[in-house]
Amino acid sequence: MTKLFSYRNRPVHLGPYPLEKLERVDSAALDHVPEMAHVSFRRPEDPLSIVNAMQEYQAMLDATREGLVKKELAEIPDDLTERANHLKAFGYYCDASMVGTCEIPREAWLDTPLVNPDVDRLADKLRTLQPKTLAAGIDVIMAGLRESMRAPPQACEHHTHALVFLYDMPRDPDAEEVGCDWIIDAQDHRTCLRGMETAVTLASYIRTLGFDARAHSMAASDVHLGKLAVASGLNHADGANPFLGNRYGLAVVTTTLAMSADRPLAPNAKPGLSWAVGLSGHTKSRRKADAFQTRKFRDGLHPFETLKRVEDPTTYIDKPNVARVPKRANLFARGLFGDMGKTVQEATKNGNYVRKSAAAFAFRPSLGAFVLLQDGEAAEAHESTQDPDRNAANIKAALYWLGVDAVGLSACPDWVYYSHDAAGQPITPYHSNAISMIIDQGHETMEGASGDDWIACAQSMRAYLRFSLLGGVLAEHLRRLGYTARVHSVMDDEVLHPPLLLLSGLGEVSRIGEVILNPFLGPRLKSGVVTTNMPLTHDKPIDFGLQTFCEACNKCARECPSGAITAGPKLMFNGYEIWKSDSQKCTTYRVAQKNGAMCGRCMKTCPWNLEGLFSEAPFRKLAMTVPKAAKALAKLDDLAGQGEINPVKKWWWDLEMVDDGAYRPSAHPVNARGLQKGLDLRYEDQTLAVYPAPLAPPPYAYPYPMDREAGIAAYKAMIPASEHKARRAKGLA
Ligand code: SF4
Ligand code: SF4
Repeated sequence: MTKLFSYRNRPVHLGPYPLEKLERVDSAALDHVPEMAHVSFRRPEDPLSIVNAMQEYQAMLDATREGLVKKELAEIPDDLTERANHLKAFGYYCDASMVGTCEIPREAWLDTPLVNPDVDRLADKLRTLQPKTLAAGIDVIMAGLRESMRAPPQACEHHTHALVFLYDMPRDPDAEEVGCDWIIDAQDHRTCLRGMETAVTLASYIRTLGFDARAHSMAASDVHLGKLAVASGLNHADGANPFLGNRYGLAVVTTTLAMSADRPLAPNAKPGLSWAVGLSGHTKSRRKADAFQTRKFRDGLHPFETLKRVEDPTTYIDKPNVARVPKRANLFARGLFGDMGKTVQEATKNGNYVRKSAAAFAFRPSLGAFVLLQDGEAAEAHESTQDPDRNAANIKAALYWLGVDAVGLSACPDWVYYSHDAAGQPITPYHSNAISMIIDQGHETMEGASGDDWIACAQSMRAYLRFSLLGGVLAEHLRRLGYTARVHSVMDDEVLHPPLLLLSGLGEVSRIGEVILNPFLGPRLKSGVVTTNMPLTHDKPIDFGLQTFCEACNKCARECPSGAITAGPKLMFNGYEIWKSDSQKCTTYRVAQKNGAMCGRCMKTCPWNLEGLFSEAPFRKLAMTVPKAAKALAKLDDLAGQGEINPVKKWWWDLEMVDDGAYRPSAHPVNARGLQKGLDLRYEDQTLAVYPAPLAPPPYAYPYPMDREAGIAAYKAMIPASEHKARRAKGLA
């Protein structure tokens, strides 16, 4: 969605709507506030409705709305306004439309809590589930979940404060619109699910800080959501929101963590000029509140339909000779098994590189829980699903409506599957089609970050969780319609994502290496894939001139703190032509660095990491149509200071888990880098290593130390695609 005004001077805790402009009063009458509709996720009479597929995901969120409170209290600011601003910003970071805070009025507690009956049903299923995968400590996750579902609900009336998350709705899907077969009459369900994703994450975060917290949804709650929305100044006493009327959903976190409260709205509070034109830098204005007003759901938010499509990806893939490798070759697995030495092993063990950051760890419980729902049996095929065009349109529209940022459909060739799974068992490719998805890591928070500070890991986790939820709902829906479908998430996947992103037209290979760059989201993305046997029409790869751009631009390589990105040419690796980075250097830095948690500085500093402003359109247009302008554009990007840190956008706390288990302000100096504009990085000065298939470990769970000398030799032995093709032609390779 193109914006006219930048939000660069708007703090994140203010959010995308100009709530701060509304007139306020000291108190509000709550007696006649209508309660939200109680949302049921059972719609057996309409098997085409995606509501049915949301059922288990909503139940999983409702089942995990409370949990253990960390006994070690975190060291956080005492200032109550700072606390409220921080938590609101976290909510906006999770894409809530509006966030308010309040002290919990006595009359907001329900006499009879709202219970989601699907939680019991899910608990029964989990009791019998025998996951075939050993990935990601699945047994531990299951044991924890079974335990928490058995435990009687604890009282939470001692909670004193509430965070209220309001989610807006896109326009109603039209039954006549191509692609909308599955998403009719499901807006409450969508906002309920998305709101609870945020509430469960924030409740988990607060408990990690050592304070009690519970999430409440429109399907499972101890509180009157509507009254809390009025008390926290989001809605009028009749339940109407000043910007949205009654088109919204709510979720709440109640907690013992004290914070400042927002004041209720004045009865006559209404949006003014700022809302009409978007003057204060807020993303949403009357004109721009819903990008789908002018777009079809199946087309998504960005003009993907304008991109040049080509028959093959713009980088060569030697398809018959791609080397399949075991999952054990994944660098995080190698770190865990000690292949990269003790320091990396310690940092990787128990997910320590995630756990050490409170904000990142907040996403982890839901991410683990959703692994249990990734796969399943298919029902009988529904008669309406024989047409591949119709299926493709329905899949795209459903995913864009749910909130995925980009979707591409392609074949799922055998060569994209790993050779062996996490348990060392051979993988026989099973699905012929792939649905690839991209989740934006969020421009606004990236603006405030160095890319390798204390929010970096949370940026990945947020996007991974979003995919696990939305991709999971889609896969479940396909199974209900009669087709096998499997989610391939960061926690448990059996296919390589980058080639599928290329085949489905979601981007091109970039200098960063395995990162596929999308013309509208840049490299600021995380991917996820659902494979299926549902017949669907494929998209084609795209060509937006990135190969020329990356050849002329070296910025990510220059700014990479570990020196992992090549300043040299593209070379052949395992059958793919790519700018091969030194994944060992990158992974070591990401998991073991002390001055932050993880890294995404290459994404942060890339000139394609854009806000989405109208004024940026000429850059994109020129970069895509005049390849010769790439060098000048890359220089201009530096001159404009793009990629520097914008302190207005820093909302997170630099909390690190220390030896006694508590989260405290990190004792290490926090990464806060400026651009290294003067650095002349030269390929000939770099020493890079790669570990192609012949150097990959066996598929089993035993240590297999990396031989860096062999890796360096392997880098030197890599050849360009042209030479590779010539050798193949002569039968030499
Ligand atoms: Fe950070 Fe790795 Fe990117 Fe380098 S390549 S900037 S270490 S994520
Ligand atoms: Fe390509 Fe430059 Fe972005 Fe690196 S920073 S991915 S070279 S455009």
